[in-house]
Amino acid sequence: MEIVEVMESGDYEQLVVAVDKNAGLKAFIAIHDTTLGPALGGTRIWPHPTEEAALTDVLRLARAMTYKNAAAGLNLGGGKALIWADPRTDKHEGMMRAFGQFLEGLGGRYITTEDVGSTPEDLAAISQATSHVVGLPRTLGGSGDPSKATGFGIYRGMKVAAKQALGTDSLKDVSIAIQGFGKVAGYLADHLLVEGARLTVCDINPDAIARAKALGSTILEDPDAIYDVDCEIFAPCALGGSINSNTIDRLQCKMVAGSANNQLLTPEDGETLWKKGVLYVPDYVLNAGGVINLSYEIGRPYQEEEAMERVAGIADSVEKVMSISKDENISTAKAADWLAEMRIKSVRRAKGIYLAP
Ligand code: NAD
Repeated sequence: MEIVEVMESGDYEQLVVAVDKNAGLKAFIAIHDTTLGPALGGTRIWPHPTEEAALTDVLRLARAMTYKNAAAGLNLGGGKALIWADPRTDKHEGMMRAFGQFLEGLGGRYITTEDVGSTPEDLAAISQATSHVVGLPRTLGGSGDPSKATGFGIYRGMKVAAKQALGTDSLKDVSIAIQGFGKVAGYLADHLLVEGARLTVCDINPDAIARAKALGSTILEDPDAIYDVDCEIFAPCALGGSINSNTIDRLQCKMVAGSANNQLLTPEDGETLWKKGVLYVPDYVLNAGGVINLSYEIGRPYQEEEAMERVAGIADSVEKVMSISKDENISTAKAADWLAEMRIKSVRRAKGIYLAP
């Protein structure tokens, strides 16, 4: 991997390689873009098989955070960190504190939070060495688990999108197929059921199935059958890549809206949905509730009510994306990227004018 070339072509600002032999720490901190503000993104702890795989992952994730934060209207840039270790066997408090020291050295250019492999306890250890960490447990003054805010944001965004796809923003009697009934889907379902939506759920975890069943959802025995469900909304809330050339033709829905990151396996899948007339609500626009909620921890004491009010604004972002898609005659997937890129470009331009002699 020609790292400078990769960074130049992807418009990355900075890559930090953090090594502390005594603490057993090997980490990468990728800062993609800080035009809008300090880079915010989680720390993933994962034992990638090669250094190249680890770097590819952290760079890709950092860039995605720039788009998510920009489209959400946050004054935050995009970044991500990767601790190259097995979270089940390798991580310990000393490693987290050592990692925190590297973050402190960045002086707030990058703010971290939880991601795959890291936990609120890890964040608490990191916070012993730096203040540039959010998503701390409530007991430590943080906002705690972001899933509640994510679920609420998806609900509000789903309603406004339903107005376009179904002709009404009421979700009463609307049939919704949910793939994966984890933390976010659970919170989302609470809102949907209050409105009287009809839920069909699949999961691979019996405990998740039991929770969905207790709420009166229809349960699918075969998780793969979720793609064939005759429904109005398909909500991917498990893993990425579930919208792909093998599944798109099976979908019966008018709209795809869920929490999973990277729902589209390839960019072409967004185009295919658009051509089929299925309204795809771009994942990073719809699932930004967690990050919006976290942003309310930065530089002020966290207030849940204030944060949730702002999370509800995801409905406005979804509306903007739908209107760009209509006006420019482009897919909603492209419209979301356009929205994020335009915002960054306009601020960059303004900064350029301001700095000019
Ligand atoms: P979670 O682990 O609590 O839930 C995921 C659920 O999906 C689990 O119950 C799991 O058993 C199920 N699952 C996995 N593979 C499946 C399959 N093939 N078929 C059906 N079910 C399957 O995770 P979560 O926090 O609810 O997040 C769900 C998705 O939303 C993830 O993609 C995550 O990256 C994304 N997301 C989460 C947040 C958040 O605030 N938690 C924010 C943004 C995006």
